[in-house]
Amino acid sequence: MENLRSLFSPRHMLVLSVALNVSLVLKIIRQRKNIREKVSRVSMEKPKDAQIAEESQIEASSNQNMHPTLSPLNVNGGDADDRRNVINLDHGDPTMYERYWQEMGDKTTVVIPGWQFTSYFSDAGNLCWFLEPELAKEIVRLHKVVGNAITEGRHIVVGTGSSQLFLAALYAFTDDASEPFSVVSAAPYYSSYPAATDCLKSGLYKWGGDARNFTKTGPYIELVTSPNNPDGFVRKSVVNRRGGILVHDLAYYWPQYTPITSAADYELMLFTVSKSTGHAGMRIGWALVKDPLIAKKMVKYIELSTIGVSKDSQLRAAKVLKVVSDSCGIAARPRENFFTYCHLLMAERWKLLREAVKQSGIFSLPEFEPGFCNFFQCLFEPLPAFAWLKCEGVIEDCESFLKSHNIWTRSGRHFGVSPSYVRDLCFQIG
Ligand code: PMP
Repeated sequence: MENLRSLFSPRHMLVLSVALNVSLVLKIIRQRKNIREKVSRVSMEKPKDAQIAEESQIEASSNQNMHPTLSPLNVNGGDADDRRNVINLDHGDPTMYERYWQEMGDKTTVVIPGWQFTSYFSDAGNLCWFLEPELAKEIVRLHKVVGNAITEGRHIVVGTGSSQLFLAALYAFTDDASEPFSVVSAAPYYSSYPAATDCLKSGLYKWGGDARNFTKTGPYIELVTSPNNPDGFVRKSVVNRRGGILVHDLAYYWPQYTPITSAADYELMLFTVSKSTGHAGMRIGWALVKDPLIAKKMVKYIELSTIGVSKDSQLRAAKVLKVVSDSCGIAARPRENFFTYCHLLMAERWKLLREAVKQSGIFSLPEFEPGFCNFFQCLFEPLPAFAWLKCEGVIEDCESFLKSHNIWTRSGRHFGVSPSYVRDLCFQIG
């Protein structure tokens, strides 16, 4: 450095530094131009299908065939500036109960020392050998407290979210089939069902569309989501053909959303902490399964795909479920009761939403019959987690209409119905 200083004056150094910076800037501009040229060359060379797939990732919401991705970076496209100015009601991310859990303080804190949970096994003697006994106990207790499902004579299978259990159930029912099963659900159906069913292009089963129009002969599985995502209605199976298999997705059968009219008593019922307690990030779901053979096959599927389910998450889920059950016994302080707290929050939001929709004159919402809830011991109308909004009149594409007003929603097309409908999320944002 001393040598350089003796060779160049400060003026020389300044000129040199400016020259270096200018050449650096020119180099960056040239590199960017090359990249742009390469990208446009590649997209011109690409087969049409690949180009369409790429474009639809950027404009996911405008493509009818593609299931909208959950990635916050991809959903609905748009750059960072766009995203800052929008109201995104597209994800089913249940962060609304966060405030309740903050108010609960340390009650759900779990500390796991480094030496704990090193084994794959949780309960080697149990059919579901990776199910933590503490979680099993709290699942049974919560269903008893709420009265929303029969657990006696059922096997509990834990999964990485109920999404994994859904696939495990498809595998279990079709494992030794001589011909492929059709998987159907009445429209509007949960938008992930078609994509999840056909994701691995299994030879055992295939998405068969709207259960109401299902006429194909051969074996089938009907997915009954009750209350339904997206429209919130209580459902029963619609195909009603002999030999059909029913999978009941009861993710929303909890008293903050719908009256608990009886304890569900079906062959295979799916539940999840994502919607019951609002802990989607824990990725814990459970299935209540009558037939031990089916339960065993579901366990096998989970063994093959993830060799069990995170013990850390199971322990945390057990603690959260325990706090929920405990909170239901606090009659004197209703806002400490988890379900009362959430129910009041949902009721408040639905009241505001219904008022706004009424004033707009251009939208409509589903109307529900009140039902008697055995848990709250009173009559009330369902308060679904989603608003199934319909654009009335001349607006044919409700998603595009709302998007032009910076509100992102999910088009009815993804749920197997007309684009005049959209699904908005009611229970995001605390
Ligand atoms: N079933 C239904 C009806 C859902 O709405 C969802 C989540 N949106 C799931 C299953 C998936 O739940 P999980 O987070 O447990 O995978």
